[in-house]
Amino acid sequence: MSKCPGQDTQMWGHDAIFDVECPKCHNLIEFFKDEVRRRCKSCGEVVFNDRMDLGCAKWCPSATSCVGPDAVKAIELSEARKARREDLRLLLDQVPESQTEVRALFKTLFSEYRGEDRVFDTNRLYTVQERDPELFERATAAFQAFLRAKQALASREAQARARTEEMLRHDQRRKKPQASPEHREGA
Ligand SMILES: [Zn+2]
Repeated sequence: MSKCPGQDTQMWGHDAIFDVECPKCHNLIEFFKDEVRRRCKSCGEVVFNDRMDLGCAKWCPSATSCVGPDAVKAIELSEARKARREDLRLLLDQVPESQTEVRALFKTLFSEYRGEDRVFDTNRLYTVQERDPELFERATAAFQAFLRAKQALASREAQARARTEEMLRHDQRRKKPQASPEHREGA
């Protein structure tokens, strides 16, 4: 079986080893380009290699057997992190620069949420309601604008995806080889 070109170490450049900072203690951890995770020697935190160059594994159907389930999980995690950061940017785009309190609130809520599945825990927003109803109102308005912007983005992406799929189907129909007669005899 031929090796996936992205995973062939002979094709690596000089950047094949690099340092990744431990998110917990800022110790530098040496990673090989295709290493998924390592334990930080100074604090014990499991650190994922977020520069891992496994771009092909994002879409390759044999990724699990090629790079391993750990790597696939790490890619998914790093994609989820990226998506979450993009969500925060989109959310902050809905807040004018002058509303520093609202911006600070969103950044705090973002950092305190430990998961990767959402930009922050919206229940936490309600604790603000009692403390500062005016801030709550502005934050809620911005959050609703964010949800609308995200919805609009998602439907644009779905349209683009549908167009790509249609193009691929068209391509496959053209490339499909004629069924060979010998093949049918064997059946
Ligand atoms: Zn550490």
